[in-house]
Amino acid sequence: MDELRDWLQARETAGNLRELRPIGRRRGGRLQLAGEGEKTLLDFSSNDYLALSEHPEVLAGSRGALAEWGAGVGAARLMSGDLLLAHRLEEAVARLKGTEAALLFGSGYLANAGIIPALVGRDDVIFADRLDHASIYDGCRLSGARLRRFRHNDLAHLEELLHKGRGRGRALIVVESLYSMDGDRCPLQELVALKERHGCLLLVDEAHATGVFGANGGGLIEEEGVVGGVDLAMGTFGKALGGYGSYVAGSAAMIHYLLNRARSFIFSTGLPPAVLGASLAAVHLVRTRPELRRELHHKMVLFKEELQRGGWSRPLGPSQIVPVVVGSSQEAAALAGALREGGVFATAVRPPTVPVNTARLRFSVTRHHGEAALRETAALILAVMRQHCPGLLS
Ligand SMILES: *Cc1c(COP(=O)(O)O)cnc(C)c1O
Repeated sequence: MDELRDWLQARETAGNLRELRPIGRRRGGRLQLAGEGEKTLLDFSSNDYLALSEHPEVLAGSRGALAEWGAGVGAARLMSGDLLLAHRLEEAVARLKGTEAALLFGSGYLANAGIIPALVGRDDVIFADRLDHASIYDGCRLSGARLRRFRHNDLAHLEELLHKGRGRGRALIVVESLYSMDGDRCPLQELVALKERHGCLLLVDEAHATGVFGANGGGLIEEEGVVGGVDLAMGTFGKALGGYGSYVAGSAAMIHYLLNRARSFIFSTGLPPAVLGASLAAVHLVRTRPELRRELHHKMVLFKEELQRGGWSRPLGPSQIVPVVVGSSQEAAALAGALREGGVFATAVRPPTVPVNTARLRFSVTRHHGEAALRETAALILAVMRQHCPGLLS
C-alpha cells in the first residue's frame, strides 16, 4: 500500500490533492462547514443557479410524491419501477426542450455513460471538444469507438478532423452548450451546419444551460434556435433544476432506441418518487416563471461588472459561471483559502480538471445571492488578489 501513499503524497506536493469538506448547515446560499463552529460562508460553488433546491413549490412536489409513492421504486423501470410520475416528468422535459420525447437517467454522469455507447461502437468515430465533461469522455471510452478530440470550440479544427477521419461508420459529435469550467458557449448554429454537411449525429450536453438560457428555459439549443438540428440534448436535474437525476431529449424513435440500448438506464433502479416530484415542480417553475431567469441574469452581470470596475481585465465569460483564471494550482488554492477567511466559499479548480497553468477560482452566481452580497464578494476578491497576486490586476 506504499504505492497509494506515494501517489497521495505526490498529489499533495503538486497542490492537487482532493479532499471532502462536510457541510453542517446550508440555507439561502450560505453554508457552515462542519467543525468550524457558527461561521457562515457565502456559497459560490453551488450549481443551484435558480435557487430551486429550496423553492417551496419544489419541496411540496417532492413531499407529495414521497407521501403517495414511498421512498423508492424498488426496481429498474423496465421491471416494475416504472411510475406514471416518471412519464409525466419525461413529457414535461420534452416540452421544455422542444422535442418529441425524453428519457430519465439516474444522473448526468450515468446518462452520458449510457447514451454514447448506445449510439456508437467499434466501427464508429466520436469527435469531442477537448473541454467536454469527464462523464462524456467515460461514455466515449465505454463505447469502444475511435475518439478524436478537437480544440475547444474550434470548429475549423473539427472540420479538419472530419475530413481526415470521418470514416464510413457512424460519426458522433459531442459538445457542451455551456462549458462548466470556463462558462463559455459552443457556436451551436455553425456546428449544426457542419454536422449536417458531414452526416454526423450531434449530442449536446446542456447541464449548465437548461433553466438558465432560452425564452422558456429550454437551454441554449432553444436560445440559438437549433432544437431541430440536435439529435440528442441531455441535461441534469442537479444544477439549475435544484434536485437530482438527469434526462436526454430527442425524437420518439431515438428515445425508444435508447431505452432498449442504454445500459445505465436498463440495469439501474428508477429515480425515487421524491426526486421525480421535485423535478416535475422545478421544470414547471422554469417554464412558467421567466422572472427567475431574469433575476439570475441581472445578478451575473452585476457581479462581473463589479470585478471589472475593480481592475480585473481578463475575460469573465457570458454566463453565470465566472472563471477567474490565475494560473498556478498553489496560487488558486491560496486565494480560495484567503476568500474563505473572508467569508466566501469558492472552489479552486485545478488540473487535471482543467489544463495545466489554468488553475482558477470558479464562481457560480445563483439567485440565492443578494446584490449587496455580490458587491461585497467582488470587493473581497479584488482585495485578496491585491495582496496575493497584484500582477493579475490592472
Ligand atoms: C455536472 C455535469 C454532468 C453530470 O451531471 P450529474 O447529474 O451531476 O451526474 C454532465 N455533464 C456536464 C457538462 C456537467 O457539468
